[in-house]
Amino acid sequence: IEQTLSIIKPNAVKKNIIGFIESRLEQARFNIVAIKMIHLTREQAEGFYAEHEGKAFFDRLITFMTSGPVVVQVLEAENAISRYREIMGATDLSKALAGTLRYDFADNVTENAVHGSDSVESAEREIAYFFANNEIF
Ligand code: ATP
Ligand code: MG
Repeated sequence: IEQTLSIIKPNAVKKNIIGFIESRLEQARFNIVAIKMIHLTREQAEGFYAEHEGKAFFDRLITFMTSGPVVVQVLEAENAISRYREIMGATDLSKALAGTLRYDFADNVTENAVHGSDSVESAEREIAYFFANNEIF
């Protein structure tokens, strides 16, 4: 069974749709095995997105991710990483398929409502970035 790190980003938290997103994930039979709400510091956000350092959108991304609280959570399911990315939809909202979370809730390519790990290695790193082992059920 696989785990992935999910973030409900600041624009989605501001829209008051945390429950709506969780409901969709539960309907898709993901188990939420860890969850917390936090307001990322710049240092935390930069460390989390270190792979994007130096890219043109990096500063915009960090400013956005620190603009308000986020929900970070660990989702567990068979093929959780790829299945959750399907449910999120494409990074660029204009390419996201109807019915995906980003199609419904993204405001633009940066403020795209949700994050999901993109590989087994990044899932392990990202889960450990936010959660101690005894916070994951
Ligand atoms: P995430 O890592 O948040 O799940 P992703 O894996 O679909 O999204 P990445 O390429 O890892 O996309 O980019 C990380 C985040 O950086 C995106 O979710 C988005 O918020 C922002 N971003 C990515 N590409 C761009 C871009 N071209 N312009 C502006 N922001 C971008
Ligand atoms: Mg990514």
